[in-house]
Amino acid sequence: MTTPTLLILPGDGIGPEVMAEVRRVITWFGDKRGLKFDVSEDLVGGAAYDVHGTPLTDATMAKAQEADAVLLGAVGGPKYDTLDFSVKPERGLLRLRKEMDLYANLRPAQCFDALADFSSLKRDVVAGLDIMIIRELTSGIYFGEPRGIFMEGNERVGINTQRYTTSEIERVARSAFELAKKRNNKVCSMEKANVMESGVLWREVVTKVHAEEFPEVELSHMYADAGAMQLCRWPKQFDVIVTDNLFGDLLSDAAAMLTGSLGMLPSASLGAPGANGLPKALYEPVHGSAPDIAGQGKANPIACILSFAMALRYSFDQGAEADRLEAAIEKVLADGARTADLIGEEGIAPISTTEMGDVVLAALDASL
Ligand code: NAD
Repeated sequence: MTTPTLLILPGDGIGPEVMAEVRRVITWFGDKRGLKFDVSEDLVGGAAYDVHGTPLTDATMAKAQEADAVLLGAVGGPKYDTLDFSVKPERGLLRLRKEMDLYANLRPAQCFDALADFSSLKRDVVAGLDIMIIRELTSGIYFGEPRGIFMEGNERVGINTQRYTTSEIERVARSAFELAKKRNNKVCSMEKANVMESGVLWREVVTKVHAEEFPEVELSHMYADAGAMQLCRWPKQFDVIVTDNLFGDLLSDAAAMLTGSLGMLPSASLGAPGANGLPKALYEPVHGSAPDIAGQGKANPIACILSFAMALRYSFDQGAEADRLEAAIEKVLADGARTADLIGEEGIAPISTTEMGDVVLAALDASL
């Protein structure tokens, strides 16, 4: 077998700091578990703009298309706020998502027991929570035409169009069913079929894909507004939720906050399988470049490390090793390791980004 390739794009702000800890974890898996990766690193966002005058060069884009998986830190920062829209750091990330056609955005909401008191909900509602929201990422109302602000008579009118084709719904539904098979075998599809034709089609197509290709997976449907209520009332009823771009944007952010800190949240964006049979894949923490703490050794590297765990599971078929890494993180948190963002009222001393990396590596050693 050829060595799998991993392109690392640390980006801006705390991106390089948290990615440095991920690189130590990647090295650990190579040394101790024989899981070798052909790792290369490149620039994205403001870091790329500073050197090349563009947030993503064509050469880096080509490398991302070739790589078995891409791992990104974060982009952006105040230094770049006044740049023209076309060269803003975020354009680099958007170009990656668009050209790799990453249509399924996976946002886990997982609550580590040790952090259950961080949630705004009661401990028993969130402790042990482990759900996955799949948001359709490349279509829907954020892309539909016509869009714009027009004149209608003597009044201005703002227009966006919700539009989904059958094939766009089919492919994200398949991603959800495939994923559920690796988890607890349940999918809940959310739309607003009661008031939107795009929702009626969404429900029909998901039902058909289920009946024809995945009858062994349990499928339910829910209106997205009811889904929002259920996520707050009893989130543990869900396993995989699949929904469109707009509802997914809202529901995944709400679900994420059930679990506490931004510094804990990984994500994956997957596309169609390439010639190597693997889906195109970009893994990144949900958080941004956190300019307020950049360069101070305060950033929590766990979201980025958990993003690598997702890469192990979804790109490299190493579910048991992903479990090992997640268990190591569970252990360090249970043992009381806390970066500054994870400290509430307790008044305990925070550890640094590198120290969090140290204890995760020690917990990995202890897992052998
Ligand atoms: P942010 O996620 O960078 O920070 C929000 C708050 O959370 C800050 O107080 C920050 O210190 C804290 N935080 C975030 N990640 C943390 C971590 N790992 N450890 C500890 N604390 C953490 O969001 P923002 O402040 O709105 O945006 C800052 C910059 O990042 C902007 O330029 C924005 O455009 C960009 N951004 C990029 C992405 C991305 O690269 N995917 C996502 C969101 C924002």
